[in-house]
Amino acid sequence: MIEIHRLKKHFGNLEVLNNIEFHVKKGEVITIIGSSGSGKSTLLRCINLLENPDSGEILYHGKDILKGNININHHRTKVGMVFQSFNLFQNKTVLENCMIGQTKILKRSKEEAKEKAMFYLKKVGMEQFANCSSTQLSGGQKQRVAIARALCMDPEVLLFDEPTSALDPEMVGGILDVMKQLADEGLTMIVVTHEMGFAKEVSDRVVFMDKGVIAEEGTPEQIFINPTQERTKEFLHRYL
Ligand code: ATP
Ligand code: MG
Repeated sequence: MIEIHRLKKHFGNLEVLNNIEFHVKKGEVITIIGSSGSGKSTLLRCINLLENPDSGEILYHGKDILKGNININHHRTKVGMVFQSFNLFQNKTVLENCMIGQTKILKRSKEEAKEKAMFYLKKVGMEQFANCSSTQLSGGQKQRVAIARALCMDPEVLLFDEPTSALDPEMVGGILDVMKQLADEGLTMIVVTHEMGFAKEVSDRVVFMDKGVIAEEGTPEQIFINPTQERTKEFLHRYL
């Protein structure tokens, strides 16, 4: 579904992504782990076209999204993103947050958008908050809404950038449960996380990034039990 070849991105003198080779198949759940500054967010942001790479290819269903006239908004409906900081529209209700992309970008009718929004709000346990202002919610509730909003666009793949890092500890488990349920239902997911339990239990493949390269990747067993690279071992020692 996604194939990345020789992807490069720099900021100033810093090579943030250095010849990344990465692929994702339909239905896969991939977690990306690695130290701060290793390029995890930048990689996700390139896949979502929030960042413009210097060179390389990002093939989505075989088509290079870095070339030609890609409709960015349309691409982002297929490749949705959930952020650490939720990024809800502050001046809108929960329901409006879940409807606006559907009506504006997918041109759905209000009725259809509302029905879908309520379906996904229910799924994440937030239907009773539909008419609340998004500013009234706790962090965990905001993240549930952000996930529902992303799902309303019928994405083929969802990118999560540290979705639980900004949450109070008691909120983390609930969000991970929602994500685990989506994984069980077969959604293709790429998750940047420091939640090693989630990476171990839920992902099909774990990718360890270090200083702009994919230093090692494999099944959770390979990465967590038998890592081959010294830097993977060092990183895991700090977390496990
Ligand atoms: P973290 O775990 O802290 O989120 P990360 O692995 O997601 O880290 P990135 O956010 O991808 O790392 O950043 C990689 C490097 O690129 C960092 O050194 C960061 O300071 C730098 N960087 C990221 N975005 C920009 C930007 N817009 N301008 C300049 N430098 C940037
Ligand atoms: Mg990051």
